[in-house]
Amino acid sequence: MVSVDDFRRKAAEAIADARMQGALERATAKFREGRTRALAELPDADALRDHFKRVRAATLARLAEHLETFEQNALAAGAQVHWCETAEDAARLITALAAQHGARLAVKSKSMTTEEIHLNHALEAANVQPVETDLGEWIIQLAHEPPSHIIGPAIHKTREQVAALFSREVGRPLPPDDVGVLTAEARRLLREKFLAAGIGISGVNVAVAETGSVVLVTNEGNGRMVTSVPPVHVAVMGIEKIVPTWRDAAAWLALLARSATGQPMSIYTSVITGPARAEDPDGPREVHIVILDNGRSRALASPFEEALQCIRCGACLNVCPVYREAGGHAYGNPYSGPIGAIVAPLLFGVEAMSGLPQASTLCGACLDVCPARIDIPRMLLEWRAVEVERRLVPWYERVGERLAAWVLAHPRLLRLVRRLAATGQRLFLRDGQIRLPGRWHPAGERDLPALASRPFRDWWRENA
Ligand code: SF4
Repeated sequence: MVSVDDFRRKAAEAIADARMQGALERATAKFREGRTRALAELPDADALRDHFKRVRAATLARLAEHLETFEQNALAAGAQVHWCETAEDAARLITALAAQHGARLAVKSKSMTTEEIHLNHALEAANVQPVETDLGEWIIQLAHEPPSHIIGPAIHKTREQVAALFSREVGRPLPPDDVGVLTAEARRLLREKFLAAGIGISGVNVAVAETGSVVLVTNEGNGRMVTSVPPVHVAVMGIEKIVPTWRDAAAWLALLARSATGQPMSIYTSVITGPARAEDPDGPREVHIVILDNGRSRALASPFEEALQCIRCGACLNVCPVYREAGGHAYGNPYSGPIGAIVAPLLFGVEAMSGLPQASTLCGACLDVCPARIDIPRMLLEWRAVEVERRLVPWYERVGERLAAWVLAHPRLLRLVRRLAATGQRLFLRDGQIRLPGRWHPAGERDLPALASRPFRDWWRENA
């Protein structure tokens, strides 16, 4: 559950944590600069974004058809395809696959979808130890924390905190200022896990219908190890991760890394089309592709369909003034930031996530940077309307908003209220700012600009 109060409480904790604020600001600033630079290097980034928007919209319009084509081609390539309607179905299926193969250790490549279905809990309950192999994911796994950013799950952690976690894991102190030593230790420990794992589990960045392939992008190469060393590979994809052709996948990949980290391409792009062939020197004997709905199809043909165009680049998080202060944990689910505020109510129910559509200034920065030009502010307003309809906002806000709407609809009354407010504010004015006492302050420490002593309307009448 994330109500408005829950969000405010967790955001206040994050804002009070100076170390976390510093780490968040450094990481998001780096991502923002990288994105701007990388898009500027393209001959016409805006045209590519427009094209990509059309591809995503057209694909969703015929989603069932593309998924069926994907299934046929994946089966023809030797993969096994499983359709799961709910998170529980998917978690049950994957734990059953692990049990069937006698796996006691599962290595995982970064995947928001497996976070969404709480796969690690399900595996642990079935006596299978899940090990995250993306460095950021591994760090937060060691810290027993959920991810705090779509592409940088541990961006809120400082180097000192990471060194402390690794030191605990290896049983001796490691130097926080020597990144080489820290990464070498991580590599050594994870390599042992890759070799011992009975099953490898990954997400899917893009699935290509015309060949039944799944594509995985990583920067550390761990995705390759997860999908090729263990004898069984399970790839978990949301139904929206599909494109009809490789041409469409190329546009997706060209925008994904640039929007996410500012790289022209992620360092490793792995394409998996069925299991290892007889002549292949290595690779999994079995590939299972789990196609997950978990509420996504409810968004089709609804005001929220656009949210399914998201490619999880995280660019909207990096520019969001709310996310940059509140951090990812305030969102209470794996999907944080502006797109998380749309997707989480879709997947987990608006009743459970009622605080998230309110956690926005509606400044529109997310729409400006989104590679798929997803109109997040519009959908936030849609969710807010649903919340009002279902009476999910506190009664005092409902009454206040109705009152405000009524006043705004009556110009004379509005003028009177404005005049009264301009007079009343004098009690609280200091240096042209309204300073309200303690708990009445709507923005914590910040003062509000005073109402103009003379309304613009009067000025206009005299000067126009
Ligand atoms: S909504 Fe757009 S900017 Fe945000 S993660 Fe999705 S694709 Fe990236």
